[in-house]
Amino acid sequence: MANHEEVFDVTIIGGGPAGLYSAFYSGMRDMKTKIVEYQPQLGGKILLYPEKIIWDIGGLPPTPGQQVLENLNQQAQTFEPTVCLNEQIQTLTRRADGVFLLKGSSGETHYSKSIVLAVGHGIFKTAKLEIEGADRYEVTNLHYTVQQLDTFKGKHVVISGGGNSAVDWANALEPLAASVKVVHRRDEFGGHESNVNQMRSSSVEVFTPYCLEELHGDAAGTAIERVTLKHLETEECTEYPVDAVIVNHGYKMDLDFLLESPLQFETNEGILAVNEKMETSVPGVFAAGDLVSNDGKLRLIAGAYVDGAKAINQAKVFIEPDATAQAYVSSHNERFKEKNEEILKKDQLVTAGTE
Ligand SMILES: Cc1cc2nc3c(=O)[nH]c(=O)nc-3n(C[C@H](O)[C@H](O)[C@H](O)COP(=O)(O)OP(=O)(O)OC[C@H]3O[C@@H](n4cnc5c(N)ncnc54)[C@H](O)[C@@H]3O)c2cc1C
Repeated sequence: MANHEEVFDVTIIGGGPAGLYSAFYSGMRDMKTKIVEYQPQLGGKILLYPEKIIWDIGGLPPTPGQQVLENLNQQAQTFEPTVCLNEQIQTLTRRADGVFLLKGSSGETHYSKSIVLAVGHGIFKTAKLEIEGADRYEVTNLHYTVQQLDTFKGKHVVISGGGNSAVDWANALEPLAASVKVVHRRDEFGGHESNVNQMRSSSVEVFTPYCLEELHGDAAGTAIERVTLKHLETEECTEYPVDAVIVNHGYKMDLDFLLESPLQFETNEGILAVNEKMETSVPGVFAAGDLVSNDGKLRLIAGAYVDGAKAINQAKVFIEPDATAQAYVSSHNERFKEKNEEILKKDQLVTAGTE
């Protein structure tokens, strides 16, 4: 692969909410920007819940994940950053002249004066069901995410897991599935209290302390038609017919490229340590989003946006020490002058057309 040395002002690793908002904000700061994302598409964890309605982003009415993702993508493209998809950053080093070298899985090296790490929980690996042969049902009725609620309409569904997602999906599917059973190893659920209460007071059947012990395939061996649930104290096993199994056993974090980097990042209980300015322990490398650990960290999309803006402001001052500490507000920012005129012109045309 051609590997000419084009040095960017900032390279953002990770194209989730933190990375996408950082890319928009770095455009406001007139920085030459690159986003590198491991997945074939941008969006980060929002790709896992496209149909879930998001309520807690300031100024946005309740909006499905897919729409938030599209809006975020559109906003991130405002200043046309360079985007590299299907590219996993595997090593981070720094040259004697201070330029960072980011080695990707494609074999390409990316060159940058500063870095914003926005890798969330790292390369996202869904924890799989530990039952031998379970993977053969992944193409039919064993699911690790719920992409479309309608897939489960009128079906008998078993959900294994006790975290936020398991509880959320149980509540979302309860009105449209024929039945929903939730199987969890402990009596306590990790989900938000109000969601757990909603689940417990609905028709959802809650099995605790239970585990999903066995999957039984149909005659063709291609789809699950029954499951065995085991009580963890009495070890009593019961079989139930099922049309679909959803597993939410959490996600595994893979941050090896950071934890094993020769740059030696400081961590805090396994998560990247940053100060209130989003500076890591390595000068020139900043971080944003779910990855970071600092006092008062808000692990939400809104928190990722604030982190991203702060990280970019620091990156700007790192490469240009005389730059202002933060971008000028967008409503009065000259960077938007032409774009505002276009928007206003379009609005006037629409108004004229409807009169
Ligand atoms: C089921 C679910 C529901 C949620 N609901 C809400 C909600 O209602 N409201 C809310 O505010 N928040 C919600 N959240 C949380 C929200 O999605 C996260 O806080 C947000 O996605 C964090 O953004 P991020 O950019 O830091 O990380 P992520 O979204 O995890 O994005 C990180 C990106 O970095 C990429 N990456 C990782 N390592 C590398 C590498 N080495 N090289 C290149 N790319 C890499 C990953 O592929 C990923 O795309 C929910 C989360 C889940 C799982």
